[in-house]
Amino acid sequence: MKKLVSFLTILIIVSSCSTVPITGRKRVNLIPDSQALPMAFAQYDGFLRENAVSKDVAKTNQIKDIGSRISKAVDRFMRANDMVKEADSYRWEFNLIEDESINAWCMPGGKVVFYTGILPVCANEDGIAAVMGHEVAHAFAKHGQERMTQGYAAQLGGIAVALGTANQPEKTKEIWNIAYGVGSQLGMLKYSRVHETEADRLGMVFMIMAGYQPKEAVNVWIRMSQLGGEQPPEFLSTHPSNQTRIKTLSEYIPTATRYAKKFNAQTLGN
Ligand SMILES: [Zn+2]
Repeated sequence: MKKLVSFLTILIIVSSCSTVPITGRKRVNLIPDSQALPMAFAQYDGFLRENAVSKDVAKTNQIKDIGSRISKAVDRFMRANDMVKEADSYRWEFNLIEDESINAWCMPGGKVVFYTGILPVCANEDGIAAVMGHEVAHAFAKHGQERMTQGYAAQLGGIAVALGTANQPEKTKEIWNIAYGVGSQLGMLKYSRVHETEADRLGMVFMIMAGYQPKEAVNVWIRMSQLGGEQPPEFLSTHPSNQTRIKTLSEYIPTATRYAKKFNAQTLGN
């Protein structure tokens, strides 16, 4: 029996192993979109009902426009790279919440929230596009599902058990909430450094594909670091340090630009 379980575990891990496009990172994701997306959509609607959606039409439209431009670039990338199923099932949506938190997040399937508190750090359209690219990248790379997979493994003491509980709504919801930090002010801050760095890189590629200036991604983090000591320490401890981020993003500009321009040339012919 034990042998069978370890055989099954290996089988499950191997069959759920995949590679993140562009970065090439190997990942294990046991949570199918058919399970994660409906849950995300319901959670997102609930969040919008319970929180103050901004009444500032100009600012809201700016978030929606930039989100739309970047998600169209991501959609184009998905359709060109064996992710047609994802492109068909994602439901991109962008909302601005009246809240001082310096935060933004994106749930599986493309459900994005910006808080008004992050707008001064974004400062301009390209800055918003940088944060938008980063958040959209989390959904593109399915970081939420990967975290849920890790949540199952940690809570239940083995990945083999995970599939067995996939149909238990209560357990799933609990793991989801832990994995995602939905509704908490630190939603965006819950990802690991690996996921953050990957979202920074992918986000930069996507913002360039959509026609924005990648240099502003660096400037966003310079402004973030200038906010100084009053910012929540969780921010600094769970994310790569601002200095590391600024350096990594600066160094990645040429690679991201080359990649995005080549892709645009292939798919748009410009
Ligand atoms: Zn992030």
